[in-house]
This record gives sequence, structure tokens and C-alpha cells, in this order.
Amino acid sequence: SPSIVWFRDDLRLADNPALRAAIDRGEPIIGLYVLDEESPGIRPLGGAARWWLNGSLASLAERLAERGGALVLRRGPADRVVREAVTDAAAGAVFWNRRYGGPERAVDAGLKAVLRDAGVEVASFAASLLFEPWTVTTGAGTPYAVFSPFWRACQSLPAPRAPLPEPREIAGARHPIDSDRLDDWELLPHEPDWAGGLRETWEPGEPAARRRLREFLNNDLGHYARARDEPAAGATSLLSPRLRWGEVSPHQVWHEGVATGRAGKFLSELGWREFAWHTLFHSPDLATQNLRREFDAFPWPRLRPSALEAWRRGHTGIALVDAGMRELWVTGYMHNRVRMVTASFLIKNLLIDWRLGEQWFWDTLVDADAANNPFNWQWVAGSGADAAPYFRIFNPDLQAKKFDPDGHYVRQWAPEHLSDDPPPPIVDLRESRQAALAAYDVVKRAA
Ligand code: FAD
Repeated sequence: SPSIVWFRDDLRLADNPALRAAIDRGEPIIGLYVLDEESPGIRPLGGAARWWLNGSLASLAERLAERGGALVLRRGPADRVVREAVTDAAAGAVFWNRRYGGPERAVDAGLKAVLRDAGVEVASFAASLLFEPWTVTTGAGTPYAVFSPFWRACQSLPAPRAPLPEPREIAGARHPIDSDRLDDWELLPHEPDWAGGLRETWEPGEPAARRRLREFLNNDLGHYARARDEPAAGATSLLSPRLRWGEVSPHQVWHEGVATGRAGKFLSELGWREFAWHTLFHSPDLATQNLRREFDAFPWPRLRPSALEAWRRGHTGIALVDAGMRELWVTGYMHNRVRMVTASFLIKNLLIDWRLGEQWFWDTLVDADAANNPFNWQWVAGSGADAAPYFRIFNPDLQAKKFDPDGHYVRQWAPEHLSDDPPPPIVDLRESRQAALAAYDVVKRAA
């Protein structure tokens, strides 16, 4: 009886424990991907994420086929669709790598129980995080709220396991079951086709991900600690969409990084990824609820839609903000320093609720991540874990002077700001800063 490997956020063959378990079981294998936009609480993918998913699934299907396997695509609520696939294939086992969001865990736990009751072997594996969230707690058994002790605690645990090698052959099932056609899912935009910049910037899929990891560690890691905050330096790994979709695993990044002997700073960024995911595990409402509930008292003024739109489109009249928002729109990516500056500007200069910014990033980032995105938005807002203190309000012009002193980044994305007639800012930075501080005082009094 065949084994089903249910692929989710782990679109790779190497270091895939669920796939390894299926190979070890020795029966024919069916790869399955379910596009689930219906299960309660599952957050529908944004536009840029759908674009990436399309490319990454096409690559995975090709790689499985080259090795003798196949990828079956089905759409609908996962609890129903996976059960149907098991019946259609007369499968004897289902394997998957764990997910950590609340609604996803509910789906997976339900399925596990139902399938086991039906006599189907089910096993789930740790593959997308270096440390399981329930294994990292304070002495009192509670989740960490501050990064440094969290990361120290992680490092005192046994080191993350070594990555598994890539399988050379995958015995496919003799009788294939029905699959949707990827094109029929219409994950790619058309009319208007806004994905030209994404196509120019990225090549989704595991082979390109592994190349990028190697290239970064060989060529760029030496500049990372010094230049990672400079948006024009090209000093960061660009691995975020790869990790988001699981085209590389954190274990691969970790072990190859450690082997260089000089990746400490870089690997601590993987630590932030762990921290964000552990926080989501303990607070599944991270994208909608302030982690620090006293922030519920924040007096958000009535929304000015034109200000939100100016921010989204990169027409705020603030050079670094406009450059960042346009990089995001064109490429589906924005440099971390600029993410912090654009988020701070939305929240603290435009006084627009962080959730609206989070939603725009969710829709436009190719690395839109259910934990990293809301976690970092809350970090900037001051409402999150180990968050920036509310009174630290970035001045986006000073940030540009410091991190883009020669204007390379602004020249690339918003060159009109360097002309003789730059566009005027839509808010006064000093006045809006005062207004934000007054609003945060309300939170302080509510605490
Ligand atoms: P590198 O510096 O090379 O870092 C390596 C990896 O570490 C990244 O790929 C990422 O997986 C992880 N990492 C780095 N910084 C962070 C961080 N602050 N928090 C969590 N993990 C981190 N990252 C996402 O992956 N998805 C998101 O949706 C996302 N939204 C963000 C929203 C805001 C407002 C901010 C301020 C940051 C956000 N980040 C998000 C974190 C960070 O900006 C990106 O991970 C980083 O810019 C990706 O580029 P890189 O892979 O070259 O990073």
C-alpha cells in the first residue's frame, strides 16, 4: 500500500524527514500538495506568495518526476482532501513535517486522529524549525519574552540534527491518482500581470535555493556582520523566501553556516526566526492581537485612506520610505533595515494601525511568513516580544544618511528624491513624532 508524503512548507527533497520516512517504508510513494484556502482560520496566501508557490511547486514536481515519483495537486479543506487522497490511493501511510500555526495544528491533529482510527500509519516530523517550541521554556515553564535568554537557552540544548541527504530515487506509485493541473489553480497574476519584477529577481525552487546558500556562504558572508544594515550593499543572504517555502531547511543553513566558522551573527538571525515562530506557537493570534494587551488602548486616529495609499505606493515624499515600498512592489522583497524604517513610518508618523501594514506586506512579500511578518510588525510597533521601546522613533532621513550615505539605494528605487525638485513629504516628521509620543503616553497610562 502506497505512502503519501504531504508536502506543505517544505518544498524540497533534501533534508526532508517525511520523505525519508516514506522511502524507508519501502512502498511506492505519492507526493501530495493541498491548496487549502477553506479550513477555518487558515490565512489565504497573498499575491506574491501565490506567485512563488507556483514556481516552487513546478520545480518540486519536476524533481520528483526525474527520480521516478510524482506530485499530486489537490485543492480544498485539507482534512477532507487528504482523506480522499488516502482512499483514492488505498494508501497505508501518510507522512508530513510539522506546522506550528494554530489553525494548521488543529487540522493536522484532527487528521492524525481520524487516519489512525482508520488503520492508516501517520507520522509527523520536525523539519522547519531548529528547536521544537515546547522544548524551549524558562525555568518556570513559560515561553521566553526576550530574545537573548531565548537564544542562549536554545544553544544550551543538543545541537540541531545534521541534514538528511537528498534521495536519488523515489519509487512512484504504479497507479497514479487524479491531480489538478497547476495552471488551473491560477496562482499567477494576469490582467494586470504585475509579476515582471518578480520573474526578473527570483528563480523559485530547491536547486536555486541551494545555489544561493552556497554562494552566500562562499562570497558574501565575510561582509555580513559589517554591511548587513546597508540596503545597497547586497550583503544579506536573500534566503528568506527559501526558508519560508522550505526550499532549504534551517538545518541545512545552520550546519553549512557553522562549518564556515564565522557565521555567528548570521546564525543569530536564524535565531530570530525561531523566536518569531515560537512566539506564534504560544500566541496563535499574533497577526491580529497585540501581544502586550496594554497596546489595545492605543488611540489610533481615524484612518486617512490617502495616507495609507501613499505609503503602499511609495509616494510619501520621504526618500528611504518611498524607495523601500517600491522595491517591495517591484521585487516582492525589501531589505530588513528598510522594512523597519517603512513600518516605523507607517505606525509612528502616519499613526496607522500596524495590522494594516502587516496585511500589505503579507500580500506583497515573496517571503510573507505567518510568524516573521506579524512578529516584526509588533516589534516595530512596540506591542510585541522584546519590542523596540515606543519612544524610539526612527527618523527616516537620518536612517538614510547613516545606512545609504551615498544614496545608491534611493537612486535605484526613488531617484526623484535626489533631483533639484524632490517631492514634498506628506507629513512633518517632527510634528508627527510628537503626536506619536502623545498617543503612546495613553498606552503607558493604561499599563
Ligand atoms: P538575512 O539577514 O540573510 O537573514 C537570514 C535569515 O534569518 C532570513 O532569511 C530570515 O529567515 C531570518 N531572519 C532575519 N531577520 C529576521 C527577523 N528580524 N525576524 C525573523 N527572522 C529573521 N522575514 C520573513 O522571512 N518574512 C516576513 O514576512 C518578514 N516580515 C518582516 C516585516 C517587518 C516589518 C520587518 C522589520 C522584518 C520582517 N522580516 C520578515 C524579517 C527580515 O526583514 C527578513 O527576514 C530579511 O530581511 C530577509 O532577508 P535575508 O534573507 O537576506 O536576511
